[in-house]
Amino acid sequence: MFDYLIVGAGFAGSVLAERLASQSGKRILLLDKRPHIAGNMYDHYDDAGILVHKYGPHIFHTNSRDVFDYLSQFTAWRPYEHRVRASVDGQLVPLPINLDTINQLYGLQLTGLEVAGFLAERAEPTAQVRTSEDVVVGKVGRELYEKFFRGYTRKQWGLDPSELDAAVTARVPTRTNRDDRYFTDTYQAMPRHGYTRLFERMLAHPGISVMLNTDFRDVDGMIPYRELIYTGPVDAFFDHRYGALPYRSLEFRFETLDRAQSQSVGTVNYPNEHPYTRITEFKHLTGQEHAKTSVVYEIPRAEGDPYYPIPRPENAALYRRYRALAETTAGVRFVGRLANYQYLNMDQVVAQALKVHRDIVARDAAAHPTAMPPSRRAAQSPGHSDQSGATPDPLAGRAEGTVLTDSLPRGAEVVHQEEFLGRSAVGGDN
Ligand SMILES: Cc1cc2nc3c(=O)[nH]c(=O)nc-3n(C[C@H](O)[C@H](O)[C@H](O)COP(=O)(O)OP(=O)(O)OC[C@H]3O[C@@H](n4cnc5c(N)ncnc54)[C@H](O)[C@@H]3O)c2cc1C
Repeated sequence: MFDYLIVGAGFAGSVLAERLASQSGKRILLLDKRPHIAGNMYDHYDDAGILVHKYGPHIFHTNSRDVFDYLSQFTAWRPYEHRVRASVDGQLVPLPINLDTINQLYGLQLTGLEVAGFLAERAEPTAQVRTSEDVVVGKVGRELYEKFFRGYTRKQWGLDPSELDAAVTARVPTRTNRDDRYFTDTYQAMPRHGYTRLFERMLAHPGISVMLNTDFRDVDGMIPYRELIYTGPVDAFFDHRYGALPYRSLEFRFETLDRAQSQSVGTVNYPNEHPYTRITEFKHLTGQEHAKTSVVYEIPRAEGDPYYPIPRPENAALYRRYRALAETTAGVRFVGRLANYQYLNMDQVVAQALKVHRDIVARDAAAHPTAMPPSRRAAQSPGHSDQSGATPDPLAGRAEGTVLTDSLPRGAEVVHQEEFLGRSAVGGDN
Protein backbone atom coordinates (compact mmCIF):
# COMPACT_ATOMS: atom_id res chain seq x y z
CA MET A 1 0.00 0.00 0.00
CA PHE A 2 1.39 3.35 -1.00
CA ASP A 3 0.48 6.44 0.97
CA TYR A 4 0.33 8.43 -2.26
CA LEU A 5 -0.02 7.57 -5.89
CA ILE A 6 1.23 10.57 -7.84
CA VAL A 7 0.38 10.83 -11.53
CA GLY A 8 2.91 12.82 -13.56
CA ALA A 9 6.65 13.25 -12.95
CA GLY A 10 6.91 16.92 -13.92
CA PHE A 11 7.56 19.59 -11.30
CA ALA A 12 4.08 19.30 -9.77
CA GLY A 13 4.34 15.55 -9.18
CA SER A 14 8.05 15.36 -8.42
CA VAL A 15 8.12 18.18 -5.86
CA LEU A 16 5.22 16.58 -4.02
CA ALA A 17 6.86 13.15 -4.18
CA GLU A 18 10.06 14.60 -2.76
CA ARG A 19 8.35 16.60 0.00
CA LEU A 20 5.99 13.82 1.06
CA ALA A 21 8.79 11.25 1.15
CA SER A 22 11.53 13.33 2.74
CA GLN A 23 9.51 15.57 5.06
CA SER A 24 6.39 13.56 5.83
CA GLY A 25 7.83 10.04 5.75
CA LYS A 26 5.35 8.81 3.15
CA ARG A 27 5.65 5.95 0.65
CA ILE A 28 5.14 7.26 -2.85
CA LEU A 29 4.52 5.69 -6.24
CA LEU A 30 5.17 8.28 -8.93
CA LEU A 31 4.07 7.30 -12.40
CA ASP A 32 4.33 8.86 -15.79
CA LYS A 33 3.11 7.72 -19.17
CA ARG A 34 6.28 9.00 -20.82
CA PRO A 35 9.50 6.96 -20.82
CA HIS A 36 11.29 9.52 -18.65
CA ILE A 37 10.96 11.69 -15.56
CA ALA A 38 11.04 15.53 -15.53
CA GLY A 39 7.81 16.19 -17.48
CA ASN A 40 8.14 18.98 -19.98
CA MET A 41 11.45 19.96 -18.45
CA TYR A 42 13.13 16.77 -19.70
CA ASP A 43 16.51 17.43 -21.30
CA HIS A 44 18.97 14.98 -22.83
CA TYR A 45 22.09 14.85 -24.97
CA ASP A 46 21.27 14.57 -28.67
CA ASP A 47 23.21 12.50 -31.22
CA ALA A 48 25.86 15.18 -31.49
CA GLY A 49 26.30 15.25 -27.69
CA ILE A 50 24.56 18.60 -27.20
CA LEU A 51 22.15 19.08 -24.30
CA VAL A 52 18.68 19.88 -25.69
CA HIS A 53 15.20 20.33 -24.20
CA LYS A 54 12.85 17.78 -25.71
CA TYR A 55 9.69 19.81 -25.10
CA GLY A 56 10.94 23.24 -26.09
CA PRO A 57 13.30 25.66 -24.39
CA HIS A 58 12.79 25.98 -20.64
CA ILE A 59 14.38 28.99 -19.00
CA PHE A 60 14.23 29.20 -15.25
CA HIS A 61 13.37 32.52 -13.65
CA THR A 62 11.60 33.43 -10.44
CA ASN A 63 11.11 36.14 -7.88
CA SER A 64 10.50 33.57 -5.18
CA ARG A 65 13.39 33.03 -2.84
CA ASP A 66 11.57 30.01 -1.38
CA VAL A 67 11.32 28.31 -4.76
CA PHE A 68 14.91 29.08 -5.66
CA ASP A 69 16.23 27.87 -2.29
CA TYR A 70 14.13 24.74 -2.48
CA LEU A 71 15.42 23.77 -5.95
CA SER A 72 18.97 24.66 -4.97
CA GLN A 73 19.00 21.54 -2.80
CA PHE A 74 19.03 19.49 -5.99
CA THR A 75 21.19 21.47 -8.36
CA ALA A 76 23.98 23.95 -8.71
CA TRP A 77 23.12 26.83 -11.00
CA ARG A 78 24.59 28.57 -13.98
CA PRO A 79 23.61 32.26 -14.09
CA TYR A 80 21.75 32.91 -17.31
CA GLU A 81 19.73 35.90 -18.52
CA HIS A 82 17.66 35.10 -21.56
CA ARG A 83 17.72 37.46 -24.51
CA VAL A 84 15.38 37.47 -27.49
CA ARG A 85 15.56 39.20 -30.85
CA ALA A 86 12.66 39.55 -33.27
CA SER A 87 13.15 39.38 -37.02
CA VAL A 88 11.26 42.46 -38.25
CA ASP A 89 11.71 44.43 -41.47
CA GLY A 90 14.89 42.51 -42.26
CA GLN A 91 16.54 43.35 -38.92
CA LEU A 92 17.01 41.50 -35.65
CA VAL A 93 15.77 43.85 -32.95
CA PRO A 94 15.46 43.45 -29.15
CA LEU A 95 12.26 42.04 -27.70
CA PRO A 96 10.53 43.22 -25.45
CA ILE A 97 10.44 46.48 -27.38
CA ASN A 98 12.95 48.89 -25.84
CA LEU A 99 14.77 52.07 -26.73
CA ASP A 100 17.13 50.23 -29.11
CA THR A 101 14.24 48.43 -30.82
CA ILE A 102 12.60 51.71 -31.79
CA ASN A 103 15.84 53.45 -32.75
CA GLN A 104 17.00 50.49 -34.85
CA LEU A 105 13.66 50.00 -36.61
CA TYR A 106 13.09 53.63 -37.47
CA GLY A 107 16.72 54.75 -37.84
CA LEU A 108 16.29 57.22 -34.96
CA GLN A 109 18.41 58.31 -32.05
CA LEU A 110 15.74 58.96 -29.46
CA THR A 111 16.42 59.19 -25.76
CA GLY A 112 14.44 57.23 -23.19
CA LEU A 113 12.13 60.16 -22.55
CA GLU A 114 11.59 60.70 -26.25
CA VAL A 115 10.80 57.05 -26.90
CA ALA A 116 8.13 57.16 -24.19
CA GLY A 117 6.58 60.06 -26.08
CA PHE A 118 6.97 58.17 -29.38
CA LEU A 119 4.98 55.23 -28.03
CA ALA A 120 2.40 57.42 -26.29
CA GLU A 121 1.73 59.29 -29.55
CA ARG A 122 1.04 56.04 -31.36
CA ALA A 123 -0.94 54.23 -28.67
CA GLU A 124 -4.68 53.96 -29.42
CA PRO A 125 -6.33 53.17 -26.09
CA THR A 126 -9.92 51.96 -26.20
CA ALA A 127 -12.50 52.55 -23.49
CA GLN A 128 -13.22 48.85 -23.09
CA VAL A 129 -10.28 46.46 -23.37
CA ARG A 130 -11.71 43.09 -24.38
CA THR A 131 -9.26 41.41 -26.74
CA SER A 132 -5.52 40.95 -27.13
CA GLU A 133 -5.58 43.37 -30.03
CA ASP A 134 -7.11 46.07 -27.79
CA VAL A 135 -4.34 45.54 -25.23
CA VAL A 136 -1.44 45.86 -27.66
CA VAL A 137 -2.82 48.59 -29.91
CA GLY A 138 -3.76 50.49 -26.76
CA LYS A 139 -0.17 50.35 -25.57
CA VAL A 140 2.06 50.65 -28.67
CA GLY A 141 -0.22 51.54 -31.57
CA ARG A 142 -1.28 49.67 -34.68
CA GLU A 143 2.00 49.73 -36.59
CA LEU A 144 4.11 48.07 -33.90
CA TYR A 145 1.21 45.74 -33.17
CA GLU A 146 1.31 44.56 -36.77
CA LYS A 147 5.09 44.28 -36.91
CA PHE A 148 5.56 42.35 -33.64
CA PHE A 149 2.35 40.84 -32.37
CA ARG A 150 -0.32 40.16 -34.94
CA GLY A 151 1.46 37.56 -37.09
CA TYR A 152 3.09 35.89 -34.10
CA THR A 153 -0.23 35.56 -32.29
CA ARG A 154 -1.97 34.23 -35.39
CA LYS A 155 0.69 31.56 -35.78
CA GLN A 156 0.86 30.75 -32.09
CA TRP A 157 -2.85 30.44 -31.47
CA GLY A 158 -4.33 29.94 -34.93
CA LEU A 159 -6.55 32.90 -34.06
CA ASP A 160 -6.40 36.61 -34.71
CA PRO A 161 -5.58 38.69 -31.60
CA SER A 162 -9.03 40.26 -31.98
CA GLU A 163 -10.47 36.81 -31.17
CA LEU A 164 -8.34 36.18 -28.08
CA ASP A 165 -8.92 37.19 -24.46
CA ALA A 166 -7.16 40.33 -23.31
CA ALA A 167 -5.45 38.04 -20.77
CA VAL A 168 -3.19 36.52 -23.46
CA THR A 169 -1.22 39.73 -23.75
CA ALA A 170 -2.39 41.35 -20.54
CA ARG A 171 1.08 42.78 -20.04
CA VAL A 172 3.00 44.11 -23.02
CA PRO A 173 6.31 44.99 -21.48
CA THR A 174 7.81 47.96 -23.29
CA ARG A 175 10.92 49.61 -21.99
CA THR A 176 12.20 53.06 -22.56
CA ASN A 177 15.70 52.06 -21.50
CA ARG A 178 18.18 49.67 -23.13
CA ASP A 179 17.49 46.66 -20.90
CA ASP A 180 17.24 43.76 -23.34
CA ARG A 181 16.74 40.91 -20.87
CA TYR A 182 13.63 38.93 -21.62
CA PHE A 183 12.87 38.41 -17.94
CA THR A 184 13.48 40.78 -15.05
CA ASP A 185 13.07 38.31 -12.16
CA THR A 186 15.45 38.36 -9.22
CA TYR A 187 16.65 34.80 -9.83
CA GLN A 188 17.58 33.86 -13.39
CA ALA A 189 19.66 30.73 -13.75
CA MET A 190 19.76 27.32 -15.38
CA PRO A 191 20.39 24.02 -13.58
CA ARG A 192 24.11 23.57 -14.13
CA HIS A 193 23.82 19.94 -15.20
CA GLY A 194 20.38 20.20 -16.75
CA TYR A 195 16.83 19.64 -15.60
CA THR A 196 16.79 15.86 -15.83
CA ARG A 197 19.73 15.63 -13.44
CA LEU A 198 17.90 17.99 -11.06
CA PHE A 199 14.86 15.69 -11.15
CA GLU A 200 17.02 12.60 -10.67
CA ARG A 201 18.40 14.08 -7.50
CA MET A 202 14.99 15.22 -6.34
CA LEU A 203 13.55 11.73 -6.69
CA ALA A 204 16.54 9.89 -5.25
CA HIS A 205 14.80 8.93 -2.03
CA PRO A 206 14.10 5.40 -0.80
CA GLY A 207 10.49 6.34 -0.08
CA ILE A 208 9.87 7.08 -3.77
CA SER A 209 9.20 4.46 -6.44
CA VAL A 210 8.97 5.60 -10.05
CA MET A 211 7.02 3.78 -12.74
CA LEU A 212 7.45 5.02 -16.29
CA ASN A 213 5.65 4.21 -19.55
CA THR A 214 2.49 3.88 -17.49
CA ASP A 215 -0.75 5.70 -18.18
CA PHE A 216 -2.79 6.17 -15.02
CA ARG A 217 -5.91 5.12 -16.90
CA ASP A 218 -4.38 1.70 -17.59
CA VAL A 219 -3.54 0.96 -13.97
CA ASP A 220 -6.29 2.77 -12.11
CA GLY A 221 -7.83 0.36 -9.62
CA MET A 222 -4.83 -1.98 -9.74
CA ILE A 223 -2.48 -0.11 -7.43
CA PRO A 224 -3.22 0.14 -3.72
CA TYR A 225 -2.84 3.66 -2.39
CA ARG A 226 -4.40 5.94 0.19
CA GLU A 227 -4.51 9.27 -1.62
CA LEU A 228 -4.05 10.40 -5.17
CA ILE A 229 -2.23 13.42 -6.52
CA TYR A 230 -3.06 13.97 -10.14
CA THR A 231 -1.06 16.33 -12.38
CA GLY A 232 -2.39 15.23 -15.78
CA PRO A 233 -5.17 16.91 -17.78
CA VAL A 234 -8.27 17.43 -15.65
CA ASP A 235 -10.68 16.64 -18.50
CA ALA A 236 -8.98 13.27 -19.12
CA PHE A 237 -9.35 12.40 -15.43
CA PHE A 238 -13.11 12.71 -15.81
CA ASP A 239 -13.15 10.86 -19.16
CA HIS A 240 -13.91 14.12 -21.00
CA ARG A 241 -17.39 14.04 -19.52
CA TYR A 242 -18.17 17.60 -20.63
CA GLY A 243 -15.98 17.51 -23.74
CA ALA A 244 -12.28 18.13 -24.33
CA LEU A 245 -10.61 21.28 -23.02
CA PRO A 246 -8.95 22.89 -26.05
CA TYR A 247 -5.17 23.21 -26.17
CA ARG A 248 -2.71 24.59 -28.64
CA SER A 249 0.16 22.27 -29.43
CA LEU A 250 3.64 22.59 -30.89
CA GLU A 251 5.88 20.57 -33.11
CA PHE A 252 9.55 20.79 -32.17
CA ARG A 253 11.97 20.40 -35.06
CA PHE A 254 15.55 19.91 -33.95
CA GLU A 255 18.59 20.59 -36.10
CA THR A 256 22.31 20.26 -35.45
CA LEU A 257 24.53 22.65 -37.38
CA ASP A 258 28.15 22.10 -38.25
CA ARG A 259 29.34 25.34 -36.67
CA ALA A 260 29.87 26.52 -33.11
CA GLN A 261 27.18 29.20 -33.08
CA SER A 262 24.05 29.82 -35.10
CA GLN A 263 22.51 33.02 -33.69
CA SER A 264 23.60 35.84 -31.42
CA VAL A 265 21.07 35.24 -28.63
CA GLY A 266 19.14 32.33 -27.10
CA THR A 267 15.95 32.86 -29.08
CA VAL A 268 15.01 34.61 -32.32
CA ASN A 269 11.29 35.22 -32.91
CA TYR A 270 9.82 35.27 -36.40
CA PRO A 271 6.52 37.13 -36.11
CA ASN A 272 5.90 37.60 -39.81
CA GLU A 273 7.67 35.08 -42.00
CA HIS A 274 7.98 31.25 -41.89
CA PRO A 275 5.55 28.75 -40.36
CA TYR A 276 7.62 28.58 -37.16
CA THR A 277 7.38 31.18 -34.40
CA ARG A 278 10.89 31.02 -33.01
CA ILE A 279 14.27 29.34 -33.08
CA THR A 280 16.20 28.64 -29.89
CA GLU A 281 19.86 27.71 -29.75
CA PHE A 282 20.47 25.58 -26.68
CA LYS A 283 24.12 26.32 -26.05
CA HIS A 284 23.21 29.89 -25.07
CA LEU A 285 20.96 28.46 -22.34
CA THR A 286 23.21 25.68 -21.13
CA GLY A 287 26.63 27.26 -21.59
CA GLN A 288 27.88 24.04 -23.15
CA GLU A 289 31.00 24.27 -25.28
CA HIS A 290 30.93 22.17 -28.43
CA ALA A 291 32.20 22.47 -31.99
CA LYS A 292 28.63 22.02 -33.28
CA THR A 293 25.37 23.58 -32.17
CA SER A 294 21.75 22.40 -31.91
CA VAL A 295 18.64 24.51 -32.39
CA VAL A 296 14.92 23.90 -32.14
CA TYR A 297 12.21 25.36 -34.35
CA GLU A 298 8.74 25.69 -32.78
CA ILE A 299 5.85 25.17 -35.17
CA PRO A 300 2.41 25.73 -33.64
CA ARG A 301 -0.11 22.96 -34.26
CA ALA A 302 -3.78 22.40 -33.55
CA GLU A 303 -3.21 18.73 -32.72
CA GLY A 304 -0.64 17.05 -30.47
CA ASP A 305 0.54 17.16 -26.87
CA PRO A 306 -1.41 19.67 -24.76
CA TYR A 307 0.84 22.71 -24.29
CA TYR A 308 -1.11 25.96 -24.09
CA PRO A 309 -4.68 26.20 -22.78
CA ILE A 310 -6.52 28.40 -25.28
CA PRO A 311 -7.69 31.45 -23.35
CA ARG A 312 -11.23 32.05 -24.55
CA PRO A 313 -14.26 32.65 -22.32
CA GLU A 314 -16.03 29.47 -23.44
CA ASN A 315 -12.96 27.39 -22.52
CA ALA A 316 -12.75 29.03 -19.10
CA ALA A 317 -16.44 28.21 -18.59
CA LEU A 318 -15.84 24.57 -19.57
CA TYR A 319 -12.89 24.37 -17.19
CA ARG A 320 -15.02 25.74 -14.35
CA ARG A 321 -17.35 22.75 -14.80
CA TYR A 322 -14.40 20.36 -14.47
CA ARG A 323 -13.06 22.30 -11.50
CA ALA A 324 -16.40 21.93 -9.75
CA LEU A 325 -16.14 18.16 -10.29
CA ALA A 326 -12.55 18.13 -9.05
CA GLU A 327 -13.49 20.02 -5.90
CA THR A 328 -16.06 17.41 -4.97
CA THR A 329 -13.82 14.40 -5.72
CA ALA A 330 -12.61 13.19 -2.34
CA GLY A 331 -9.09 11.86 -1.89
CA VAL A 332 -7.65 13.48 -5.02
CA ARG A 333 -5.60 16.67 -5.31
CA PHE A 334 -5.29 18.30 -8.72
CA VAL A 335 -1.96 20.06 -9.06
CA GLY A 336 0.03 21.68 -11.89
CA ARG A 337 -0.63 23.21 -15.26
CA LEU A 338 -2.71 20.45 -16.86
CA ALA A 339 -4.83 19.68 -13.82
CA ASN A 340 -5.68 23.38 -13.49
CA TYR A 341 -5.97 24.13 -17.22
CA GLN A 342 -3.69 27.10 -16.81
CA TYR A 343 -0.40 28.18 -18.34
CA LEU A 344 1.99 28.23 -15.42
CA ASN A 345 5.71 28.83 -15.39
CA MET A 346 7.93 26.28 -13.69
CA ASP A 347 8.41 28.38 -10.56
CA GLN A 348 4.66 28.84 -10.18
CA VAL A 349 4.15 25.09 -10.34
CA VAL A 350 6.91 24.45 -7.81
CA ALA A 351 5.34 27.06 -5.50
CA GLN A 352 1.93 25.46 -5.96
CA ALA A 353 3.28 22.00 -5.12
CA LEU A 354 5.09 23.30 -2.02
CA LYS A 355 1.84 24.91 -0.89
CA VAL A 356 -0.10 21.67 -1.41
CA HIS A 357 2.47 19.88 0.73
CA ARG A 358 2.07 22.48 3.49
CA ASP A 359 -1.72 22.00 3.30
CA ILE A 360 -1.31 18.24 3.66
CA VAL A 361 1.01 18.67 6.65
CA ALA A 362 -1.47 21.05 8.29
CA ARG A 363 -4.37 18.70 7.66
CA ASP A 364 -2.46 15.72 9.07
CA ALA A 365 -1.35 17.73 12.09
CA ALA A 366 -4.95 18.74 12.78
CA ALA A 367 -6.09 15.11 12.47
CA HIS A 368 -3.30 13.75 14.72
CA PRO A 369 -2.29 16.62 17.00
CA THR A 370 -0.06 14.42 19.15
CA ALA A 371 1.76 12.64 16.32
CA MET A 372 5.53 12.84 16.38
CA PRO A 373 6.86 15.43 13.91
CA PRO A 374 8.38 13.79 10.82
CA SER A 375 11.80 15.31 11.43
CA ARG A 376 12.03 13.41 14.75
CA ARG A 377 10.81 10.22 13.16
CA ALA A 378 13.41 10.55 10.44
CA ALA A 379 16.10 11.19 13.03
CA GLN A 380 15.17 8.02 14.89
CA SER A 381 15.47 5.86 11.82
CA PRO A 382 17.74 7.38 9.24
CA GLY A 383 17.53 6.13 5.68
CA HIS A 384 13.99 4.86 5.77
CA SER A 385 11.16 7.25 5.77
CA ASP A 386 8.04 5.37 6.73
CA GLN A 387 8.08 4.67 10.41
CA SER A 388 4.35 4.60 10.95
CA GLY A 389 4.26 0.82 10.86
CA ALA A 390 0.97 1.05 9.01
CA THR A 391 2.31 0.64 5.51
CA PRO A 392 3.53 -2.79 4.44
CA ASP A 393 6.18 -2.61 1.73
CA PRO A 394 4.66 -4.08 -1.43
CA LEU A 395 8.04 -4.05 -3.14
CA ALA A 396 9.92 -5.97 -0.46
CA GLY A 397 12.13 -8.62 -1.96
CA ARG A 398 11.70 -7.49 -5.56
CA ALA A 399 14.54 -8.04 -7.98
CA GLU A 400 16.88 -5.07 -8.25
CA GLY A 401 17.98 -3.38 -11.40
CA THR A 402 14.89 -2.91 -13.55
CA VAL A 403 15.96 0.11 -15.53
CA LEU A 404 13.38 1.61 -17.83
CA THR A 405 15.05 4.77 -18.92
CA ASP A 406 18.27 6.62 -19.28
CA SER A 407 16.84 9.16 -16.85
CA LEU A 408 16.75 6.72 -13.98
CA PRO A 409 16.52 8.60 -10.71
CA ARG A 410 19.47 7.28 -8.81
CA GLY A 411 18.51 6.05 -5.37
CA ALA A 412 14.82 5.85 -6.12
CA GLU A 413 13.36 2.52 -6.99
CA VAL A 414 12.32 2.31 -10.62
CA VAL A 415 9.59 -0.24 -10.87
CA HIS A 416 8.86 -2.38 -13.85
CA GLN A 417 5.17 -2.03 -14.56
CA GLU A 418 4.40 -5.69 -15.29
CA GLU A 419 6.51 -6.87 -12.42
CA PHE A 420 4.86 -4.53 -10.00
CA LEU A 421 1.31 -5.12 -11.12
CA GLY A 422 1.91 -8.88 -11.14
CA ARG A 423 3.02 -8.86 -7.55
CA SER A 424 0.42 -6.43 -6.32
CA ALA A 425 -2.30 -8.60 -7.82
CA VAL A 426 -0.83 -11.58 -5.95
CA GLY A 427 -0.64 -9.52 -2.79
CA GLY A 428 -4.30 -8.64 -3.26
CA ASP A 429 -3.82 -5.40 -1.43
CA ASN A 430 -6.29 -3.33 -3.41
C1 LIG B 1 6.96 25.16 -25.14
C2 LIG B 1 6.97 25.48 -23.68
C3 LIG B 1 8.01 26.23 -23.16
C4 LIG B 1 8.01 26.55 -21.81
N1 LIG B 1 9.04 27.31 -21.35
C5 LIG B 1 9.06 27.66 -20.06
C6 LIG B 1 10.11 28.48 -19.58
O1 LIG B 1 10.99 28.90 -20.32
N2 LIG B 1 10.10 28.81 -18.26
C7 LIG B 1 9.12 28.38 -17.40
O2 LIG B 1 9.17 28.69 -16.20
N3 LIG B 1 8.12 27.58 -17.84
C8 LIG B 1 8.06 27.22 -19.15
N4 LIG B 1 7.05 26.42 -19.60
C9 LIG B 1 6.05 25.91 -18.64
C10 LIG B 1 6.49 24.58 -18.03
O3 LIG B 1 6.56 23.60 -19.02
C11 LIG B 1 5.46 24.17 -16.95
O4 LIG B 1 5.49 25.12 -15.91
C12 LIG B 1 5.75 22.80 -16.33
O5 LIG B 1 5.76 21.80 -17.30
C13 LIG B 1 4.68 22.49 -15.32
O6 LIG B 1 4.94 21.26 -14.68
P1 LIG B 1 3.77 20.23 -14.44
O7 LIG B 1 4.31 19.19 -13.54
O8 LIG B 1 2.52 20.94 -14.04
O9 LIG B 1 3.44 19.64 -15.90
P2 LIG B 1 4.30 18.69 -16.84
O10 LIG B 1 5.72 19.06 -16.83
O11 LIG B 1 3.60 18.68 -18.16
O12 LIG B 1 4.15 17.25 -16.17
C14 LIG B 1 2.95 16.52 -16.22
C15 LIG B 1 3.31 15.07 -16.45
O13 LIG B 1 2.13 14.28 -16.30
C16 LIG B 1 2.21 13.19 -17.17
N5 LIG B 1 0.87 12.65 -17.38
C17 LIG B 1 -0.21 13.31 -17.87
N6 LIG B 1 -1.27 12.48 -17.92
C18 LIG B 1 -0.85 11.28 -17.44
C19 LIG B 1 -1.49 10.02 -17.24
N7 LIG B 1 -2.78 9.81 -17.56
N8 LIG B 1 -0.77 9.01 -16.74
C20 LIG B 1 0.55 9.18 -16.45
N9 LIG B 1 1.21 10.35 -16.61
C21 LIG B 1 0.51 11.39 -17.10
C22 LIG B 1 2.82 13.79 -18.43
O14 LIG B 1 3.42 12.79 -19.24
C23 LIG B 1 3.83 14.78 -17.85
O15 LIG B 1 5.12 14.22 -17.78
C24 LIG B 1 6.98 26.10 -20.96
C25 LIG B 1 5.93 25.35 -21.48
C26 LIG B 1 5.91 25.07 -22.83
C27 LIG B 1 4.75 24.30 -23.39
